[in-house]
Amino acid sequence: MAIPIPSRQLFIDGEWKEPSKKNRIPIINPSTDEIIGDIPAATAEDVEFAVAAARRALARNRGRDWASASGAYRAKYLRAIAAKITERKPELAKLEAIDCGKPLEEAAWDIDDVASCFEYYAGLAEGLDAKQKSPIALPMETFKCHVLREPIGVVGLITPWNYPLLMAAWKVAPALAAGCAAILKPSELASVTCLELADVCKEVGLPRGVLNILTGVGPEAGASLASHPHVDKVAFTGSSATGSKIMSSAAQLIKPVTLELGGKSPILVFEDVDLDKAAEWAAFGCFWTNGQICSATSRLLVHENIASLFIDKLVKWCKNIKISDPLEEGCRLGPVVSKGQYEKILKFISTAKSEGATVVCGGSRPKHLKRGYFVEPTIISDVEPSMQIWREEVFGPVLCVKTFSSEDEALELANDTQYGLGAAVISKDLERCERLSKALQAGIVWINCSQPCFCQAPWGGRKRSGFGRELGEWGLENYLNVKQVTEYISEEPW
Ligand code: NAD
Repeated sequence: MAIPIPSRQLFIDGEWKEPSKKNRIPIINPSTDEIIGDIPAATAEDVEFAVAAARRALARNRGRDWASASGAYRAKYLRAIAAKITERKPELAKLEAIDCGKPLEEAAWDIDDVASCFEYYAGLAEGLDAKQKSPIALPMETFKCHVLREPIGVVGLITPWNYPLLMAAWKVAPALAAGCAAILKPSELASVTCLELADVCKEVGLPRGVLNILTGVGPEAGASLASHPHVDKVAFTGSSATGSKIMSSAAQLIKPVTLELGGKSPILVFEDVDLDKAAEWAAFGCFWTNGQICSATSRLLVHENIASLFIDKLVKWCKNIKISDPLEEGCRLGPVVSKGQYEKILKFISTAKSEGATVVCGGSRPKHLKRGYFVEPTIISDVEPSMQIWREEVFGPVLCVKTFSSEDEALELANDTQYGLGAAVISKDLERCERLSKALQAGIVWINCSQPCFCQAPWGGRKRSGFGRELGEWGLENYLNVKQVTEYISEEPW
């Protein structure tokens, strides 16, 4: 099947621009292991051009620039972007599916979510106008005080490959709503739809320099952006290892960062559940997007009295789902994103076996798929808390299972992790759910479900899963400085 991957350049100052060293990175279709196009590779020099363009967007026509325009003015562009994305949904979903291997149906949900995210932040941008000069009550009548919310300035946005356009939208939409100018650096493993976002920005006439999109490799384009002295803030989503590097380089300049990092989230299944419904959530929570979700509930804690029946249901689920090219009708699991990721996942599984764990189902390439980076959904039992498979993020379709006999034991096992992104509790006892929602050390707790995500609600982690919150009003605050303005209003001398 001919695959229409548009050939694009870097997007700087509202124009397509060839990368300074003219280098390009191949795009590999993870379903076939074939090169199907390429993307430009930005250098440190291109980062300089983009930062300069972004700074100009904030300095142009003092008083009429992006930063000091009204929120309502900026909202018009955000809504126009949302509308164009919706118009181009079939094409964007197909490109996303081909580029990162997610089933077409899931890719289409992502594109809907991208459009909703731009719409949502358009609303918050409009709301900013009313909040612009918030008065503060002071205990002394001789003073008057108000607070201004001002855009942080030029922001560097660095994103991963698992939800390429959606992760970009989570950052670009609030940054632009706040009045910042942005430079987006998507993952070199899946940048195609982010370059289409550039095309959308051109189509809607977004003022030049407000959003610049640089594709390229992390250590060059990403690191140059993160450490640039004229980038006022970095918002990063990716691995904890890279997050740590970004935090170190930001520390040199006392630059604020938001870090959305990895996870190893637990799902706690109690003996009072409806087994079929609970199994659906447990399977969805770990295998959706092939387990390549930061918040995937990849540690299953199940009550010992139902464990055997519950695991049987999960195994059945794994054996019945369709694993195929993501564009095929009915596909539920596509390939993982890259050869590197495929090999890493299989290595995790073989280490688990060598440490004494049991592969209950899956564990290798599906027999009917001879090429591409496909991994069967895998369930691993006989796991000890000290094992690598229980402690480290696999970022693949691998669910490990442990049993518990009491709520206290389940909680202790759930919290015994370096991460703190998500956690799910499945139980009919809502008092227990509430108790656990308070006790679980996570930024997001799901009750009787796993993974739903809404752009109105805060998203982010604690511990090695990072800090700061995206989405909701918290997402907008990420890109605003709060300024106190206090005036002496008495006629009396001080
Ligand atoms: P990654 O850390 O390898 O890469 C993320 C981004 O950082 C890419 O754009 C990459 O090019 C760039 N990068 C790499 N090295 C860099 C450097 N030295 N300086 C600056 N930028 C650099 O992560 P990934 O493999 O793309 O994504 C998977 C990871 O992302 C997983 O750990 C997952 O849990 C995490 N993730 C977290 C969330 C969240 O909301 N918490 C969401 C999605 C993914």
